[in-house]
Amino acid sequence: MCGIVGYIGNREAYPMLIKGLKRLEYRGYDSAGAALINQNGELSVYKTKGKVSDLEAFCQDKDISGSVGIAHTRWATHGEPSSLNAHPHYSESKNLAIIHNGIIENYADLKKKLISDGVHFRSDTDTEVIVQLIEYIQTKKNVDLLTAVRLALHQLIGAYAIALLDKREKNQIIAARKQSPLVIGIGDNEFFLGSDATPIIEYTDKVVYLDDDNVAVMRLGEELKVVNNMNHEMSPEVRTLDMNLGQIEKGGYPHFMLKEIFEQPECLENCMRGRVNVDANKVMLSAVIDYKKQLLNAKRIIIVACGTSWHAGLIGKQIIESFCRIPVEVEYASEFRYRNPVINSGDVIIAVSQSGETADTLAAVKLAKENGAFVFGICNAIGSSIPRATDTGSYIHVGPEIGVASTKAFTGQVTVLVMLALALAKEKGTITDELYASVVKELSGIPEKIKKMLELNDRISELSRTFTYAHNFLYLGRGYNYPVALEGALKLKEISYIHAEGYPAAEMKHGPIALIDSDMPVVVVAPHDEMYKKVLSNIQEIKARRGKIFALVSKGDDTISKIADEVIEMPETLECLEPLIASIPLQLLAYHVAVCKGKDVDQPRNLAKSVTVE
Ligand code: GLU
Repeated sequence: MCGIVGYIGNREAYPMLIKGLKRLEYRGYDSAGAALINQNGELSVYKTKGKVSDLEAFCQDKDISGSVGIAHTRWATHGEPSSLNAHPHYSESKNLAIIHNGIIENYADLKKKLISDGVHFRSDTDTEVIVQLIEYIQTKKNVDLLTAVRLALHQLIGAYAIALLDKREKNQIIAARKQSPLVIGIGDNEFFLGSDATPIIEYTDKVVYLDDDNVAVMRLGEELKVVNNMNHEMSPEVRTLDMNLGQIEKGGYPHFMLKEIFEQPECLENCMRGRVNVDANKVMLSAVIDYKKQLLNAKRIIIVACGTSWHAGLIGKQIIESFCRIPVEVEYASEFRYRNPVINSGDVIIAVSQSGETADTLAAVKLAKENGAFVFGICNAIGSSIPRATDTGSYIHVGPEIGVASTKAFTGQVTVLVMLALALAKEKGTITDELYASVVKELSGIPEKIKKMLELNDRISELSRTFTYAHNFLYLGRGYNYPVALEGALKLKEISYIHAEGYPAAEMKHGPIALIDSDMPVVVVAPHDEMYKKVLSNIQEIKARRGKIFALVSKGDDTISKIADEVIEMPETLECLEPLIASIPLQLLAYHVAVCKGKDVDQPRNLAKSVTVE
């Protein structure tokens, strides 16, 4: 959600800012802009509604020289997407320019006060309040910029990552954060700034993840300076990035989403590397070894997550309850954080988030910690806020996910949850040796089975054409495959804008069956497991009402194949691992329907990759 890029050094800033914004395009946005200070110390702001390419077109006849600059892609929260509301925003004197990711909740009060003191505003954004407030404090109190920034930040309620230029200090960028991500890259007498590391990795692998309430001062020819909001100098930890350029490029695929779907066998190998050992019949997670006592003593586990991660959580609940016999609740982080939940010191909270920056999940983590719970994070982005805020956790290690619709992160999250359940159950003694061994073995073979599913890509592409007419879809599944149905429906609506609902198959009779007619495609996940006969009855009921059935069945199924309109066969696996197989054709179906409909698969409208606002 929103992208921030910055550069200060000896190279031309503009090309790097544009490239950086393009690397962050996956996050979703509606307008873009940049501010540059040129050789003569002039500060220019260029911005426009639309894509980064629109900004490039807009800048074609402008002075884009300068080796100090900041740039932004906006995902509007306050004020419509327009050139006026796009960032950067000038202060009234035009000495300062700011970019901001987040929401200032008390902006209306601050704005009212500033207006009554004679300040003139140009936009409808909450962001402009920050820069006007900084300038107001700077002039009224006659203090330097850093002090003015700190004092202004004291007055803000909400979330922010900001970067600021002052044309009177042309060799400096000031940046700060609270609850919104910001990474500083450290080069050779140059600094880079990014909402995440993707705009930075081709220039340096040395980064600092700024902490909440800290302000960074990047000055040419000087070391990075970081102070907290009381002006105490901090010693930021410089980390080495473990990411390469190939991971964030399309590698010959037409879309990131397709690339990421196809990467899943390799990603899950990486996710299990060093953790699942079939020869030794063992699953090891360092977090479970290090925090055995806290995890084994859990009286209850609460999984908090949003969107796709929440679906992974629903699968995790079934596996953990079944293997470990610990009660598990799965909560939307956004609801959990605001409903005064009962959290006890014996509770373990598992926070699941691809980006590790999801604002609601991060807030839920903080709430849980304040109430004495032990918090375990399952994230993908290394060094992001949630892993830093939790007591321990396991990364999913699937590499950067750029497509907005999550695919490989979902299967990575499910894989970590399976490993966690196995490791805990073994320690607790709640799983039989036989079951443990069979799950360990089968789990390690999942990447090969996913490869088999990926071979069906052409066929799914072909049959997806017959579904592009539909305005509604129903997805059904039971047991472990109920969350798969939810996730399949979410994928379709996210990128093709077709309304889709996921349901536990048996619930169909309690409402959704009323929707079924010959125009209604129904996707049914129906492998040959415990629930097979029940799901078969549901399929008959749909057929009797002329619904169009797209069924995912086990290889060799000859019953449903005769009834369904379209059938995709899946290799058999253990019931608890079926989601890892069954979600693949549903990802492909959503992808191909969206492509057929000519939709922007990697950047679907209104959606953002990393939801850093609540
Ligand atoms: N709240 C700010 C705005 O609406 C920033 C949004 C963003 O993070 O892009 O302009």
